[in-house]
Amino acid sequence: MSFKPANNIQDLQYFGEFGGVNPSISDSSTYTFLSAKTMFDTFEGNADGCYLYSRHSSPSNLYLGEALAAMEGTETAIVTSSGMAAITSVLLQLCSAGDHIISSRTIYGGTYAFLKNFTPKFNIRASFVDITKLDTIEKAITKNTKAIYCEVVSNPLLEIANIKELAEIARKHELKLIVDNTFSPLSISPIKLGAHIVIHSLTKFINGSSDTVGGVVCGTQELINELRNVNNGAAMLLGVTMDSLRASSILKNLRTLHIRMQQHSKNGLYLARKFEADGLKTVYPGLESHPSHTLFKDQMNKEYGYGGMLTIDVGSLHNANELMEMMQEKNLGYLAVSLGFYKTLFSAPGTSTSSEIPHEEQKAMGLTEGLIRFSIGLDADIERTYKMMRQCMETLGILKSKKLSKIA
Ligand SMILES: *Cc1c(COP(=O)(O)O)cnc(C)c1O
Repeated sequence: MSFKPANNIQDLQYFGEFGGVNPSISDSSTYTFLSAKTMFDTFEGNADGCYLYSRHSSPSNLYLGEALAAMEGTETAIVTSSGMAAITSVLLQLCSAGDHIISSRTIYGGTYAFLKNFTPKFNIRASFVDITKLDTIEKAITKNTKAIYCEVVSNPLLEIANIKELAEIARKHELKLIVDNTFSPLSISPIKLGAHIVIHSLTKFINGSSDTVGGVVCGTQELINELRNVNNGAAMLLGVTMDSLRASSILKNLRTLHIRMQQHSKNGLYLARKFEADGLKTVYPGLESHPSHTLFKDQMNKEYGYGGMLTIDVGSLHNANELMEMMQEKNLGYLAVSLGFYKTLFSAPGTSTSSEIPHEEQKAMGLTEGLIRFSIGLDADIERTYKMMRQCMETLGILKSKKLSKIA
């Protein structure tokens, strides 16, 4: 049976207390109790439906969390102040001193830095592996391993994780499979493929307007209860809560995610095909030349496409910088990190979002200096965009000129 994540979001109904079509925003940090006994029970965690203090939970945050849980097909979710807040809380909740994590080596720079430089302070160690090589993952498992961590579509190399196979390895060794699905919301539903926990940076496609940071952990009721436990919950004690105003604004944006993803994917596929035909080294999961094209195709919810992320290699950092500056000047997008905006965003990962990864390791994983990462925007006329980008590349000598129909 196919999984319909956008339907699951749409089918949730919340009304404001006066019949408003959007739920009211909870504008309080603390909540009154009619009886002292209920307050005590809430502290003990047995008074579901009662709010205590907004670092613990708030109605607006619960609405957003429930919508994201519906999207991912988990029992529930907790929203957090950022994607990193979600990632760090989950890892610190699941691991104690002495524990070990197996992580994909091509992950978001902040996550990499956390596991490489920060968790060793608590004697939590990570092994970084090529997530596409399943046998090396199994070999890296030790008696202390607690979790396998990966991104469905890796940043910035756009490698695809085989979630089904990874889930099978996790099951066999009783590990948790934690998947960061930030690059592929709706397109991929990791829980349906066997993952245990799904994380998103809401900052990117899900919110889609580059006006806030936010994150979410989607998982079982048990895990989410643990995260918010007043005595030992990482989310509760590290204080990673999201503000209610933000939660309500992200919930409104979430409702158009399916339309936006379809447009990001349509534009991404168009440009990837054109760039590849032009002879540029292009990486996009929707291209047949992508080493994991078939894998992505088998795992995806077809109607949302292959996403908005693609990379090209323009040979050198110098070329990359010149091209990005020129494209920005021509208003084709912004030289900026992050992703999932209406406008195309581009950056050279080696010197920006992945600069936490040492130079030699970048090289070993195939992160070249001339790599440009694109988050393709919602452009209404992607053909015009392509022609203008192509012209920039010709002007800079990255591509040889070829007769193109004049741009109107
Ligand atoms: C941006 C990003 C994060 C971190 O999210 P923040 O909201 O910036 O904290 C984590 N994972 C991936 C894949 C990202 O792109």
